[in-house]
Amino acid sequence: MIPCEPKSQVGIIGSGNFARALAKRLINAGYDVIIGSRRPRSLSEVDSCLCNVTVTSLEDCVKQVPIVFLAIHFENYKDCLSSHEDLFTGKVVVDISNRLKVPKHRSNAEYLSSLLPNAYVVKGFNVISAYAMENEFAGGSHEVFVAGDDLMAREKVCVLARDMGFVASDWGLLQSARKIESYPLKIFPGWKIPILFTIGIFNVWLLYIIFIYFVKTTAYRWDQLFVKVLNKPLCMTAITVFACTYLPSSFACGFQLYYGTKHMQFPSWLNKWLLSRKQLGMIAFLLVFVHAIMSVLILSPTYLSSWFQSTTIVIPGNRTDDIKIPIKTWMVWKGEAACLMGILAFVCMCIIALSTLPSVTRTLNWREWRFVQSQLGHVTLFFSICHVVAMGAPGWAKGGPIKTVQSITFLSLIIPFITLFCKIVFSLPCIDNYVQKIRQGWETSYSKCRAKCSQKHATFGKVYSNPQDKDNSSEEDMMMIDSQENDRSCACQNTSIV
Ligand code: NAP
Repeated sequence: MIPCEPKSQVGIIGSGNFARALAKRLINAGYDVIIGSRRPRSLSEVDSCLCNVTVTSLEDCVKQVPIVFLAIHFENYKDCLSSHEDLFTGKVVVDISNRLKVPKHRSNAEYLSSLLPNAYVVKGFNVISAYAMENEFAGGSHEVFVAGDDLMAREKVCVLARDMGFVASDWGLLQSARKIESYPLKIFPGWKIPILFTIGIFNVWLLYIIFIYFVKTTAYRWDQLFVKVLNKPLCMTAITVFACTYLPSSFACGFQLYYGTKHMQFPSWLNKWLLSRKQLGMIAFLLVFVHAIMSVLILSPTYLSSWFQSTTIVIPGNRTDDIKIPIKTWMVWKGEAACLMGILAFVCMCIIALSTLPSVTRTLNWREWRFVQSQLGHVTLFFSICHVVAMGAPGWAKGGPIKTVQSITFLSLIIPFITLFCKIVFSLPCIDNYVQKIRQGWETSYSKCRAKCSQKHATFGKVYSNPQDKDNSSEEDMMMIDSQENDRSCACQNTSIV
């Protein structure tokens, strides 16, 4: 048997929840763990798995180890460390602390670095909970973000993370700790606007449906509200949100065509919209899924009488008249076509949704992924439009223009039609070639771009006429201005357009 290389000793300051979970994980990874506590006592009293851990004073712990984890709260750093500054000279100190508010100017790790100027401070592990640290199969990401000014120190912490079964991700300099510390504070970043947008659209459609089916006419009964009626705003919202997933890429195309360059920042509303496309697509898929279940539940002549053929069973009468019983039999073309288009749209949407799973995405190259997300996405939108047209067209033909314009099928198709129309226009070879040229870096006129960019810069940030004004500006503004001044070829948008 080949003996394993002995692993180094690791110190942990603090004996709280995180410290104990970390100690267990390190022991399982083969490390010797020394815990430095204000009140050294046997941890085996607290945790039987930690009977092999040495518990000592903070000073003894730091002296013995090359790497120390600070498992104490950020507020206690000064109290705990100020008199031991020299002890940490040349040691790698891992800051795992979190805080309750997003750090603006200085992260906990940068603060720690100012307290221990001779140590190699590395940010890491703060995104892993004590529970996930202790339970290998706990939910949540197993990615550990690492940042620090010293490359070797960072590398040591990355190796530790990998040995413990985590995926280490190097975020570069200690300054990145600001982002790393704000990461666990976020709850589903990027979902707020798409969800609010969807709720808004759903409410608009729901109110309209209540108005036309319950107030203006009495087509439905209130007890049909939950499935029969609710299914309508649900599918209208689904198709609207799905169309809105693809519409911003046409706006981006138009924007680039108008300015004749790709080296120009999109307006912030368009940037946000482009960045929300994944969320919008996922919400649309969820709504379509629910719509499909509800539609299958009510797929009967009782609910959808216009989808089925009417016929009459005649029973010959022997005294007076025949007895006639009207019944619905097979589906008419409207029902069959709507079903087919709906099924095709649903299947295509499932493929698109599957392609966003990281395990599937990894197997696709850029062109394949783009094909599924863009081309197949527009084909899905086309099938969805056909599904609605099949349901609405017979009514439009009968009802005349005014009733057509007021029908829910017509109204719900406006945005999808615009989206598909824009896509067709921008796909025409004469326009597409031009757009592709621009996306490869070609510009209509460099001076035109410069002029427009400088106008944009003037309104984008602030124009400082004297250095005093500049000194008074906020850090964020300064960073924006500096990056704009440094960028000689205009601000470049980096949101990919699929
Ligand atoms: P905890 O259970 O409250 O433990 C904190 C430890 O700090 C105490 O057990 C204490 O150990 C030590 N300490 C040193 N100086 C102290 C002082 N002046 N006052 C009070 N305690 C002092 O906290 P925790 O949950 O383990 O969290 C520790 C750190 O990990 C925090 O910075 C937290 O943000 C971070 N973190 C925690 C989690 C989590 O899931 N718990 C996840 C990510 C990051 P001694 O008595 O032995 O000195």
